[in-house]
Amino acid sequence: MKVLYVCAELFPFLKTGGLADVSAGLPPALRALGCDVRLLMPAFPAISSSAASTRPVASLPNGQLPWGAPPALPPADVALATLSGLDSPLYLVRSPDLYERPGSPYLGPDGHDWPDNALRFAALGWAAAWLGQGLDPDWSPDVIHCHDWHAGLAPAYVQVMAQAGRAALATVFSIHNLAYQGLFAESTFAQLGLPPNWFGIDGLEFYGQVSFMKAAIRYADRITTVSPSYAQEVLTAAHGCGLDGLLRERADLLCGILNGVDYQVWSPATDKWLAATYDADNMAPKAAAKNALQADFGLERRPGALVFGVVSRLTEQKGLHLLIHVLAELVQRGGQLAVLGQGDPSLERALIDAASRYPGQIGVRIGYSEVSAHGVIAGSDVVLMPSAFEPCGLTQLYALRYGALPLVRRVGGLADTVVDCTLENLDSGVATGFVFDVFSTDGLLSALRRAFVLFQHPDQWAAVQRQGMRLRFDWPGAAKRYLALFQSLRPDPKPRHRSPRKKG
Ligand code: ADP
Repeated sequence: MKVLYVCAELFPFLKTGGLADVSAGLPPALRALGCDVRLLMPAFPAISSSAASTRPVASLPNGQLPWGAPPALPPADVALATLSGLDSPLYLVRSPDLYERPGSPYLGPDGHDWPDNALRFAALGWAAAWLGQGLDPDWSPDVIHCHDWHAGLAPAYVQVMAQAGRAALATVFSIHNLAYQGLFAESTFAQLGLPPNWFGIDGLEFYGQVSFMKAAIRYADRITTVSPSYAQEVLTAAHGCGLDGLLRERADLLCGILNGVDYQVWSPATDKWLAATYDADNMAPKAAAKNALQADFGLERRPGALVFGVVSRLTEQKGLHLLIHVLAELVQRGGQLAVLGQGDPSLERALIDAASRYPGQIGVRIGYSEVSAHGVIAGSDVVLMPSAFEPCGLTQLYALRYGALPLVRRVGGLADTVVDCTLENLDSGVATGFVFDVFSTDGLLSALRRAFVLFQHPDQWAAVQRQGMRLRFDWPGAAKRYLALFQSLRPDPKPRHRSPRKKG
């Protein structure tokens, strides 16, 4: 099974959120199952500067097509590269005009989307579809696996090529976050190289704009979300971001596959970024991690304080404005808070203000730091994720592994992965964190208070920590489900790995 994995982020080279971690974790797990996986990404400087032995494959076709003009792209080609530490070969879409810009893959230095994002990501989808048509004479995929709106035009291009009599490739589209849709002005449609009548309610139009997300949902053969609960939620008006109608129409093609964790990166026993390593059977050094966190974030060094941690994009989605309203009680009860994040300027300001109101009890670091993220998760007693919605969430999975009890809202992947500390769940030994239902300050407060109560019972607290640390959300399991999905589209006649022959 040959799989082209099309994405815009890849840890540790380029990351703005969980998508990068998935792109690092899923392809190797698929390879371990015998899949021949190659990645396709835009040649962002953070990627191309780390690439070795790059060899040009072919220019992207730009001639007239049976259905009209091609996308209005500047000269672009596809090259094959290797990245140190990456098992899979990587195709790069290269076009200095589109990609040679510093910083975020999506935003300019002014914090706004690059004005030509439609073309920058149309090129990614165009390259994917042409690789499916044999652009590289040495390798072509059986399945194109597209991730988020950035790769959303690939299924549309595959479809239009199939309608024009070319090979009909299988496409799978994975939604990592339906709220980011890749919406562009109607005027961009004419530049995308699609049939004019595809701009309409049955095509890519979303209330007068072009939607890359809608293109993928409309034209992919299968659709996945990154957790089973989110797969149900996106069918509702509350979480469907205006696409729930189309998703309901295609619901029989939709399923949720929970993300995994790369435990080589996220394990407290081997974490190279921790002051002291620890594990479920040797928890004492976690106190040193807590002490280091308190020192790092300017918190009073009180070993008995209940320390809450946040590692997050600071956006509406993450529900952190609720947190602002409960800080007085959190501090009054003797708790502390360490926040690592960046994003919405008003939320950044509110958190910085809170830190200056409660010096020594609240520490805030605005920015992005991989090292600090590990320090916060290891040093915290509780990791907060009061999200309004959460397609999967990885941070709570890391928290579980590090013996930091997740405190989460019952939504999306959070609902699928955290078991509330109810009396029954504590009694039966399955509790792993604190879960609240109603997205409100009171909802969050109720869970926060329960955390303070349980913290008074160190034996029970330790039992909950151990239960969370035992759990594994592994990539091999998730990869098997993706492979089954791919095989349902393109049965592989010759499995590459046979089971070993029995001896004797
Ligand atoms: P999302 O993808 O919505 O941002 P996830 O919980 O799925 O949320 O993944 C977020 C990932 O980004 C995690 O690996 C988390 O550790 C990381 N992260 C978020 N904010 C920061 C930050 N400020 N510094 C370092 N890592 C961060």
